[in-house]
Amino acid sequence: MSATRVLVLNSGSSSLKYQLLDMRDSSRLASGLVERIGERSSRLKHSPLATGGETREQSAPIADHDAALKAVAEELAKDGLGLDSPELAAVGHRVVHGGKHFTRPTVIDDAVLAEIERLIPVAPLHNPANLTGIRTATALRPDLPQVAVFDTAFHTTMPESAARYAIDVETADAHRVRRYGFHGTSHAFVSRATAKLLGKAPEEVNVIVLHLGNGASASAVEKGRCVDTSMGLTPLEGLVMGTRSGDADPAVIFHLARVGGMSIDEIDALLNKKSGLIGLCGDNDMREIQRRIDEGDEQAKLAFDIYIHRLKKYIGAYYAVLGRVDAIAFTAGVGENAAAVRAAAVSGLDALGLAVDDGLNAVRGDGPRLISPSDARVAVAVVPTDEELEIATQTYALVKTTN
Ligand code: ADP
Repeated sequence: MSATRVLVLNSGSSSLKYQLLDMRDSSRLASGLVERIGERSSRLKHSPLATGGETREQSAPIADHDAALKAVAEELAKDGLGLDSPELAAVGHRVVHGGKHFTRPTVIDDAVLAEIERLIPVAPLHNPANLTGIRTATALRPDLPQVAVFDTAFHTTMPESAARYAIDVETADAHRVRRYGFHGTSHAFVSRATAKLLGKAPEEVNVIVLHLGNGASASAVEKGRCVDTSMGLTPLEGLVMGTRSGDADPAVIFHLARVGGMSIDEIDALLNKKSGLIGLCGDNDMREIQRRIDEGDEQAKLAFDIYIHRLKKYIGAYYAVLGRVDAIAFTAGVGENAAAVRAAAVSGLDALGLAVDDGLNAVRGDGPRLISPSDARVAVAVVPTDEELEIATQTYALVKTTN
């Protein structure tokens, strides 16, 4: 097949992130972002990586996703990478919620669109935006395979014992209440890259992946298959995040409604947008929190300690779930950059074979690297995630075999 380019689209409610890759060598030809779609202050930022040219920015109102993708296509065409090119093999779409149904990347047809639509009640913020991106790209190139890569797919291997909440089965099933997990593309990519770093096949190792970005999740990956993850029905469960609470007694919600007089929507906003690090100390950026801690700020220190305490509990829990752990991998903005978080998360866990080498942990670098002492029983690694490359790889593998 001569077409080797894949356009990766990640559509949010008011944003469109994209990358164009050449799958012959996984190189990035262009990348960019349209923000504030539908507002007067829309902004497009385009990096023509193939030509090595300067990043171009434009600020002009962009009414909707259709206009956004057309603006992106124009930018790409300026670099000779137009979306009408026969070299474009497919468009890979990040789709947040694939429910139980989608266990792998899928070429999109009407039935797939209908199923993604049926999942809107469990992903009210994300799936509608993802659908808009798919429809827009299909309208632009109806002849091209459009592939959905689901954030939930990697977690569909979780056993029922991990995926089910202990609530009435009939009620749960009637409303599709179960643990789905998210960030799956990242957990898949990072767990495989960690195995490679150890010189092993994914099937030979057990890995705990800690994806610590603004959203954060942990997963237990046994021989390449996910057996547990910290996010649940929605991305709210689990770790302390930038603005989300993570785990909390569900009765907090009843209490805030009955005693605090808050509506369900207010509690939803509280737990998703005004909790986590920002709720605890007013900042959700780990750099700012560390700066404040260095200045002796007690509130920032407590927020950090709560964040680390939860992280440590999940490391312990997944150690127990896996029985034997070969590596722990830190990834995403905080995991890749915040050495203090990595050191604190494993401190005191020597009895589990876990430790970081302070010198290695302090070194900054771009690629996957080990930060544990050379004689450590369990490897501790920093493994940069690359969700766009993973989406492109999965998309290309699918269209190559179906063509
Ligand atoms: P998301 O994709 O979830 O928005 P990222 O994976 O890009 O998030 O992570 C963003 C977070 O990474 C920021 O909120 C910030 O706290 C953290 N971060 C980025 N760089 C650093 C750094 N050098 N030190 C500490 N934290 C960092």
